[in-house]
Amino acid sequence: MESSPRHILGLRPLGNTGLKLSCVGFGASPLGNVFGLVSEHDAIASVRHAFNRGINFFDTSPYYGGTLSEKMLGKALKTLEAPRDKYIVSTKCGRYVEGFDFSAERVTKSIDESLARLQLDYVDILQCHDIEFGSLDQIVNETIPALQKLKEAGKIRFIGITGLPLDVFSYVLDRVPPGAVDVILSYCHYSINDSTLEDFLPYLKSKGVGVISASPLAMGLLTESGPPDWHPASPELKAACQAAATYCKEKGKNISKLAMEYSLSNKDISSVLVGMNSVRQVEANVAAAMEIATFGKDRESLSKVEAILAPVKNQTWPSGIQQS
Ligand code: NAD
Repeated sequence: MESSPRHILGLRPLGNTGLKLSCVGFGASPLGNVFGLVSEHDAIASVRHAFNRGINFFDTSPYYGGTLSEKMLGKALKTLEAPRDKYIVSTKCGRYVEGFDFSAERVTKSIDESLARLQLDYVDILQCHDIEFGSLDQIVNETIPALQKLKEAGKIRFIGITGLPLDVFSYVLDRVPPGAVDVILSYCHYSINDSTLEDFLPYLKSKGVGVISASPLAMGLLTESGPPDWHPASPELKAACQAAATYCKEKGKNISKLAMEYSLSNKDISSVLVGMNSVRQVEANVAAAMEIATFGKDRESLSKVEAILAPVKNQTWPSGIQQS
């Protein structure tokens, strides 16, 4: 029998939503085999372990593994046999393996497909996925109004937008009515090698939106095993992260743990969304959160790693289409 979740992880409020997210969130893209093959057994075990360690926030997308991630997450959540209000699920719309489509018609159909795969009656957050690949004016004038109708229909509770460049968020937030967008999900901008989200946080706070920061391990750059082949970073950035990981290993430290601690230290970020594919990774990331809550950051190791990464600090990569 499933034991009840022990809320040992800190919960943080998400903007004005009233939701309280675990500071470590479960990124389910690995369950779509995005970072290599994951068995159904490991996928389910990871989600169950996460929930039992106090992780209450799970993020997926129809894009991850061409719907596989949503299906696996749905199966795993079902095995919890937990009341629906004990976990928070976000999925996305507008990005599919077939391509991008942020039309009202597509996103309205998309949520029904996602709910069926997730085996849920509603999702807590529906996010427009990687809006820099669409027309931002369409997001403002068509997609978000369509999502508001889904909110009224009870299929989603809150609306979000995601993307890599930070300026796409302000483009949309400055043009929609206050409260129309509840959440933004930024990725790869609050980790040791790139912390550009930090300067953007006061603006986001002024807009009343909740902030989710994804990819604290920079999509695998800040791991001992390194990033997947498709990683878009420059060879220079990859090499610097590899050097930082090697330095940590030689000192008996773990680069991923240090990276988690770094990302978790800013309380204006509601949840640090990390992709996990094994019980071991869940345990390591929960342990990193517990350690920072108890002892604070490992400042000495961090400053050494920051020095190694200084030449590539805040280096990113192009994403999206040129907006007119
Ligand atoms: P990440 O930085 O979280 O890195 C994930 C990789 O690190 C995976 O290979 C994972 O197995 C590995 N890993 C996790 N914990 C580890 C540990 N303790 N030690 C060693 N390796 C470890 O990158 P991500 O998965 O891309 O981002 C997290 C989640 O955020 C995604 O799963 C997704 O849900 C979300 N996300 C959304 C967007 C978007 O909306 N555009 C973009 C990126 C990520």
